[in-house]
Amino acid sequence: MIRLFNIGWHTKVDGPGNRVVLYLQGCHLRCPWCHSPHSWDMKSSPLLFLEKKCTLCGQCVKACPQGVHRIENRKHFIDRSKCTKCGKCITACPNSIANSMDGALSLPTTEIPVEELYSKIKPQLDMFKRNGGITLSGGEALLQKEDVRELLLLCKRDGISTCVESSFTLPPQAYESVKDCVDFWLAGLRDTSFGLANFRNDETIIRNIRIVAGHCQKIYARYPLIASRTTEDTHLKRFASIMEATGITEVEIMRCNPNMELFYTLSGIPCKLEQASSIPTDRQFQKACDFFESRHITVKK
Ligand code: SF4
Ligand code: SF4
Repeated sequence: MIRLFNIGWHTKVDGPGNRVVLYLQGCHLRCPWCHSPHSWDMKSSPLLFLEKKCTLCGQCVKACPQGVHRIENRKHFIDRSKCTKCGKCITACPNSIANSMDGALSLPTTEIPVEELYSKIKPQLDMFKRNGGITLSGGEALLQKEDVRELLLLCKRDGISTCVESSFTLPPQAYESVKDCVDFWLAGLRDTSFGLANFRNDETIIRNIRIVAGHCQKIYARYPLIASRTTEDTHLKRFASIMEATGITEVEIMRCNPNMELFYTLSGIPCKLEQASSIPTDRQFQKACDFFESRHITVKK
């Protein structure tokens, strides 16, 4: 069974060409600028609540066996610590739709056998086969390495191009286990020292990238640019050194997501950064581009 919280269809991002992108549940790093905090829990997203869609009808209050919902003074309160994720409130809510995040309440995580998932996305993969393929992202996709391998093998059997995004901070077995069935890698070079894992071992990242390097067509680096965090010279130098040590020649600079706070609000997880002050200026973005290019690393435009 593989657990995922979203499926996307992207063009020219998340790997070359047109790609079906699977966002797998679970992340061990929990970077404070992550815009998908509902992906962090290894098993499933918390209950999401979109306040503007709620008409305060009270059906969820009646339906929930755990007393999670409370409406007082025309305000809806949710105590997620008691939620067992049974979904009864979503079924009862007139403004929620099963398997959709567009309603007032949702539980976006799906747990599904790998073969069943593959047969669902196969028609789209066949359409993208000539110019694109599949990308497994997250969360941290390789936390589900056995299921990821099973899915990648089905893709390779059918001639579908494969791409995996990873922070390259997991134990080496994760990379050994899939290196023979991944065509492209997206190396998400996050400064993990700000996150839950307090992970600062660049040698581990370099070792893991080297494990896969000889087996794939290309590795692209991704560098999240967060104002006053990763815009500093020390960070730029640190990650350029990792790219140089592993032969990575192309980087995508990813500006802090302008909707970073959205899923913190929906999921009730406190956001540790202020969105407005985390978005880099055009000048900071250009400085990062110039820096990488001065180190002969091409910046993907
Ligand atoms: S998912 Fe179940 S336990 Fe959680 S709030 Fe809804 S009804 Fe209550
Ligand atoms: S059932 Fe839906 S619309 Fe009614 S109070 Fe609950 S979340 Fe709001």
